[in-house]
Amino acid sequence: MNCPHHIQWVVPVAYGQHQCTLCYDLVVKKDVTPKFEDLPAEFQKRWDAHEASWKPPAAPKPAP
Ligand SMILES: [Zn+2]
Repeated sequence: MNCPHHIQWVVPVAYGQHQCTLCYDLVVKKDVTPKFEDLPAEFQKRWDAHEASWKPPAAPKPAP
């Protein structure tokens, strides 16, 4: 699959991740087209906010 993962197709999904609706791959900033750095600040802010919206559960405390 050689998909450019254009941001038009990328949607926020569960666990603070993003998914391309064209190829169904989970994508990260470096995967999208155009380059993440070149996107509007507003888009970058939404991306970061979504990523930050999910925190992995804390590791269980070791048994005493
Ligand atoms: Zn894609």
